Amino acid sequence: MPRRQSRVPKILLCNLVRFHIQPHYCNKSTARSMTQPSIYSPFVVHTPPNKLQVVLSSVFCLLCFDSVMSQFSGHRQARRRTKWVNGALIVGAGPSGLAVGACLRQQGLPFVILERARCVASLWQTRTYDRLRLHLPKRFCSLPGLPFPGDFPEYPTRDQFVEYLEAYARRFELSPRFGEAVTAARFDATCGMWRVRTAAEAEVEYMCHWLVVATGENAECVVPAVEGMCDFGGRVIHSGEYKSGEAFSGERVLVVGCGNSGMELCLDLCLHGAFPAMVVRDSVHVLPREALGKSTFELAVQLMKWLPLRLVDRVLLAISWMKLGDVKKLGLNRPALGPFELKFMQGKTPVLDLGTLHKIKTGKIKVIPGIKKFLHGKVELVDGRILNVDSVIFATGYRSNIHEWLQGIDLIDKDGHPTREFPNGWKGSSGLYAVGFGRTGLSGISMDAAKVAEDIGRIWREETRQAKHIIACHRRCTSQN
Ligand SMILES: Cc1cc2nc3c(=O)[nH]c(=O)nc-3n(C[C@H](O)[C@H](O)[C@H](O)COP(=O)(O)OP(=O)(O)OC[C@H]3O[C@@H](n4cnc5c(N)ncnc54)[C@H](O)[C@@H]3O)c2cc1C
Repeated sequence: MPRRQSRVPKILLCNLVRFHIQPHYCNKSTARSMTQPSIYSPFVVHTPPNKLQVVLSSVFCLLCFDSVMSQFSGHRQARRRTKWVNGALIVGAGPSGLAVGACLRQQGLPFVILERARCVASLWQTRTYDRLRLHLPKRFCSLPGLPFPGDFPEYPTRDQFVEYLEAYARRFELSPRFGEAVTAARFDATCGMWRVRTAAEAEVEYMCHWLVVATGENAECVVPAVEGMCDFGGRVIHSGEYKSGEAFSGERVLVVGCGNSGMELCLDLCLHGAFPAMVVRDSVHVLPREALGKSTFELAVQLMKWLPLRLVDRVLLAISWMKLGDVKKLGLNRPALGPFELKFMQGKTPVLDLGTLHKIKTGKIKVIPGIKKFLHGKVELVDGRILNVDSVIFATGYRSNIHEWLQGIDLIDKDGHPTREFPNGWKGSSGLYAVGFGRTGLSGISMDAAKVAEDIGRIWREETRQAKHIIACHRRCTSQN
């Protein structure tokens, strides 16, 4: 029998949330008990101040919102369950999401982390190659509240970094909800909350006051469309699928891209008996990983305290010339802007040489210009040359996926970068935050995470203070962030 169409408008439900549930999380006993591990559960509605609220909040906690909605509205399609998040909702359990979670945990604030994969730091666990190490010394890469173990090397390996992140999650009792990919999020101005949908086994809609986007700049692989790719016939992969050169031994491999991944994959292929050719279309800055007994990054940071950026770049380029020689002769043209000026202005990271240049100099790695098209088992280059190729690896980078699921935002531009300059790109409007989009790597992530957690904590404390006052006056808290 078809359900009766409800006359109860959606707004009534929203107001019930506002007036009957929200006051509970704002009340002072809740605020005090936030430091107790037992109340970390973010879905809990805490000690109600009066009987009416006990009844209403119990109803809303025990029942899914959509089942309530379907009771009222007759929308049977409402298979979706709605969960009210008491605190912040963090999307992504990579280093950024974990860092925000840890900082909130340190303040005793509740939160939920949603992660589409089945593990923390899925980028590092599933989409990186075996020989990868952190590019910067470990002291620049640790997350807030936990340094790297003393016995880790200066540049930890990929596996050590994953071990560190797993230990980090355990240390701060971070338990992401795995297998929950966020498919849509929007701010509902009627109830003043974010509505966040996920595609888990059963579709869920979360409602929260604070939404922290931590899905990373590298959420999706980028593979450019090249003419004739379907006719190529050989193996074609993205660098995110590459593990080791062992699988390519004896093959002629075309590596498209000359960033840190492209360069290192070529080296790895060489070391495993493959014959790589690297496609270099753009200009690129290659620097030695270390200079004057320090990491080049650390040296640059120190020089920046005393010298203007342009001069720092000049010093670094002079050192590079002395250590690496004239890379232009190898087919690697340098951009007009210096390496760190380029990094700050366009977010383009300089490549740190780990031995690839030597292989190029000795002819083990070929440097070739852009591709015009693929043919069967071959590739035609823009200069008209044709090369025989067995496999192709696209080291063409990644992109963010924010705009696929987050609507109407002012914080991130269409390319997935913050609309405001680092370090101010972390806060949007209506309780929206972003961590890890400043193109500043792990060191920037820690700074963003600490600021986001601090801001949420401040608002939380203000609201609980306000609630204390309002409860004393027997009025209901409707404060919003
Ligand atoms: C090969 C490689 C090497 C690198 N080396 C360094 C280095 O040495 N130093 C450095 O500072 N940086 C390095 N980086 C950059 C690196 O990506 C960041 O430092 C770091 O991983 C970013 O952390 P993040 O949490 O912001 O993003 P990620 O690590 O990408 O984590 C984002 C998480 O969000 C999840 N997610 C995405 N979309 C959704 C969704 N819709 N719903 C739910 N979950 C979602 C993803 O599954 C992922 O687990 C490297 C990157 C690559 C690819």
